[in-house]
Formats: sequence, C-alpha cells, structure tokens
Amino acid sequence: MTTSDRRDPDVLVIGAGVVGLCCAWFLSRAGHTVTVVDRGEVGDPAACSAGNTGFVGTQGSAPLAEPGVPAKGVRWLFSPESPFSVKPRLDGALLAWLWHFRRHCTERHARAGFETLLALKQRSLALLREICAADGLAGTLTERGMILACHTEQGYARARRTIPAATARGVPLRDLDRAELARLEPGVDFAVAGALLNEEGAALRIPAFLVALADALRARGVDIVTGAEVRDFEVTGRRVRAVRTARGDLRPAEVVIAAGVWSTACARMLGVGLTLQPAKGYTVTVPAGPGTPTRPVLLSEGKVAVMPLGDRVRIGGTLELSGLDASVSPRRVDGILHTARRYLPALETDRRLDVWSGLRPCTPDSLPLIGRAGGFDNVSVATGHGHIGMGLAPAGGELLAQIVSGTEPALPARTFALDRFRRGI
Ligand SMILES: Cc1cc2nc3c(=O)[nH]c(=O)nc-3n(C[C@H](O)[C@H](O)[C@H](O)COP(=O)(O)OP(=O)(O)OC[C@H]3O[C@@H](n4cnc5c(N)ncnc54)[C@H](O)[C@@H]3O)c2cc1C
Repeated sequence: MTTSDRRDPDVLVIGAGVVGLCCAWFLSRAGHTVTVVDRGEVGDPAACSAGNTGFVGTQGSAPLAEPGVPAKGVRWLFSPESPFSVKPRLDGALLAWLWHFRRHCTERHARAGFETLLALKQRSLALLREICAADGLAGTLTERGMILACHTEQGYARARRTIPAATARGVPLRDLDRAELARLEPGVDFAVAGALLNEEGAALRIPAFLVALADALRARGVDIVTGAEVRDFEVTGRRVRAVRTARGDLRPAEVVIAAGVWSTACARMLGVGLTLQPAKGYTVTVPAGPGTPTRPVLLSEGKVAVMPLGDRVRIGGTLELSGLDASVSPRRVDGILHTARRYLPALETDRRLDVWSGLRPCTPDSLPLIGRAGGFDNVSVATGHGHIGMGLAPAGGELLAQIVSGTEPALPARTFALDRFRRGI
C-alpha cells in the first residue's frame, strides 16, 4: 500500500526512532490520528536508537558541556581512549556549534543543564513505567539499579561529591562499600577505587523495546509506514500542505520532524536551521562470561557503558563530532574495550558478536530541541536528545504532544525552543 491509499492523518511524524515513536505515543494518547514515516524499518541499525546501550533512569543527567572540558579536549584529540573527539574540518555549522558548546562550559550552565535534564529523566522514567506496562512491552524495561564504577581515587572522590546534589533532588544515589559491591555482583572482579549505586538506574532492551513500542502503537491505531523517505514538502505561505515521500504524498494538518541527526536535512528543505551536530559512538556486543556484571555499569572516568543482555553484554562509548560519517574506526573500538577491561579485567572481549556505530543528535547545551519551527504554523521539531535520548524521549514526546495540541506544557517549553541559541541563552 502506498501513502496515497492512506487516510491523511492529523499529525505526520517523520522518523521512527525512539523520539518519533514516543511523540506518536503521546500524540495518539491526546486524541490525534497519527502516521509515522521512516525511510528504513523500525529498529533499522542505521538509526541511533537501534544499537545503543539502553541506560535509562535518573543517572547521567550531566550535560556534556562542563567546566574543564575545553582544557581536556585538546588532550583527548590525540588519544584513542578519549571519550570525546572532533574531526578537524572547516565547517561553519560545526564551528558555530563548538562556539555555543564552549559558551556553555560554565558552572552556571552546567548546574542549570543538570536540573533540566534530571527533571526530564525523572519524568521519562515515570512515563516509561506506564508505557512498558502496555501489552507486548513487558520485560523491555528492567530496574535493578546501576553501578557507577570509579577506577581512580580522584574519580571516586569526584563521583561522591555528586551525591548530595542528587539526593537533594530525590535521586537514590549512594556510596557502595566493597562488601556490598561483592554481594551485588558476586564473582565479578572490579578493578576500581570505589563505586556508587543508583537504585533508579534502569535499562531498556534494545532494539526489542523499539519493535514492541511500534507494535503497541499500531495496536492503538497509529500507522507506521516504512521505506517512506521524506524527500520534499509542498508549502503555501506559513503552512506545509503536503509531505512528499518515497511511497507517495501525505497531507497532514501538522508535521513533526523527529528524524534524529537527519532532522537538519529535513528542516533545511523548509529553510529552517537547527543547531545540531551528529556525534558518533560505538557499541560492541560480546558473549557474557564469568567476569560480566548482572546489572548496568557506567565506567565513570572512561565514560564507557556496560550493559548485560542475558547471554551477551554490550559495551558502548566515545563521542566523535565527525559529521554524518557512520564508519567504524577499529582504533576507537579497541579503545572502548581497553577501557572496559581496565575496570573489569575478567571481561572477555575477543569474540565480537556485533560492532555497531550510531550518530547521536547533539545540541551544544545537551538539551533537546522541541518546539514549533519558526516561520510555520503547522511544523514542529523534536530532536537533539544527544547522548541520553533513550532516557529523555518519553518526557520529550509528552512535551511535543502538549505543544502540538495547544495544551499547557508540563515543562517550561521555552527552555527547549529551537531558537534559544540565537537568543543567546
Ligand atoms: C554508542 C551509543 C550509545 C548510546 N547509549 C545510550 C544510552 O545508554 N541511553 C540513552 O538514553 N541514550 C543512549 N544513546 C543515545 C540515543 O541512542 C539517541 O539519543 C537516540 O537514539 C536518538 O533517537 P532519535 O529518534 O532522535 O534518532 P534515530 O534513532 O536516529 O531515529 C531517526 C529516524 O529518522 C529516520 N529518518 C531520517 N531521515 C528521514 C527522512 N528523510 N525520511 C524518513 N525518515 C527519516 C531514520 O531512518 C531513523 O529511523 C546512545 C547513542 C550511541 C551512539
């Protein structure tokens, strides 16, 4: 069936990654008829949502821009184990992004960013519990807590200093002594100076969660059209009249661009600019063994994530601003595994079952871009969920649905507005 055989929806969502699907969930719940179009399949490995580590919950709410990052950045450029790198190139959009990023590396911005991201993550966790209670989604969310492992005394002291701010905001983060770590993960050899536990650390099974979410949406009447790349828009005045896809035209009342890093290209077709850069990362899936933890572990200084998945374990990391290039760098992949073995020396990483790369849609302040596209009365954008998009997408989807429906947003919508960098916030 082509899109021309389909009923025109109230809202057309472009992109069936976690962000597009969460927008569809809340738009449908608000009573709209919704169609989601994607150029690939749901769970297609090209999408950033399909191969990530799936950490959700209230840990990891710090923005990427923090005091001290610019100084470390120069050193990181030359190390394959560095968590952050930039491929040097003359690109005006990248330079503008870096300028805004640099401006956000202050105590004031980092604190405000933490507060906002934590509020989004807390709301998202509550919403994820609701979503994952739906038919077919049971088992895709697990909540066994998350360990923050620190390799050095300095890193451990830094991590412990975050406990008061987190607990003051209701996050159950606490120090773990050696005996308790051994009791939680018996038989796992941790080469660490210390560790913390966040009892609200949760995990999504990826890509099973996406596939089950898409099925649940279909069961609620949402049409999901795959193989339908959006190629152009028909515009009259301040309104998009038609969306031209590889499978025909659709004439929705409202359009939502939720196409991850490709949102920039979609928005550009309408003359709308987004302050967004792709940030590449990798995950490597290996068989689980005796050295594998049974709950999610974040390797604090190395910024590497270790996610157990039954008989396998997925290890993910790095953030490279290298444009829309998803090629795999073996040097970087080796760097991630080397970091993982520094914390978990018994981890078997020789047999790689899968090596995956994904492009995170990143903004300079780590907050998503959610709101109306200037110049249009019926176009909105939901992207920029960056390094924690699985953990932000439900609250972001709820906000987007409130904006499109014209109801009072539960969160301060201006904080996520598309034009905030131009306004100098
Ligand atoms: C290594 C790695 C590890 C990560 N780990 C975590 C984690 O543990 N926890 C966490 O919260 N986040 C994590 N993330 C981040 C998270 O994966 C992303 O923030 C999130 O997946 C972004 O989702 P999205 O829907 O915006 O984009 P995507 O998943 O990329 O979806 C965009 C969709 O738009 C479609 N599309 C693009 N252009 C068009 C077009 N023209 N027409 C139609 N369709 C189009 C694409 O096919 C795609 O399906 C990780 C990311 C990486 C790379």
